[in-house]
Amino acid sequence: MQPLTEQQIRRSFVNASKGEATRASIPDLDTIDWDALDYLGWTDAKRPGLSHVVLHLDDAVRGIFLRAAGSGGQMSRQAICVWCEDIKATDNVRMVIAPLAGQAGRRGGTIGTLACADFACSANARRAPTR
Ligand SMILES: [Zn+2]
Repeated sequence: MQPLTEQQIRRSFVNASKGEATRASIPDLDTIDWDALDYLGWTDAKRPGLSHVVLHLDDAVRGIFLRAAGSGGQMSRQAICVWCEDIKATDNVRMVIAPLAGQAGRRGGTIGTLACADFACSANARRAPTR
């Protein structure tokens, strides 16, 4: 993916207030191998129950706030990540919840999906086939 700046990331969040976007922890962008990523995902260093995903979508940068579902959100059984659909990396998949944007989100509306807990989807998609 194309490298992003901290300002692009903070402005990209569609389901967070400006204050929340300002308070979000941003990873060290200079250490990221952007060519190896399809999206950038990370756990918030200040709030471990919160994570963020940012990607290029329709010529814009879009970011979402996610939180783990339930206590830590760890699945007790194996599951397949909806984003990378990797059938080998099934033991570190969790349910994540995103508040909806706008009025629906302010009323408490959310949407959930199963995703790799460590946001390793890009690495999973690039792993050489195994036999
Ligand atoms: Zn995945």
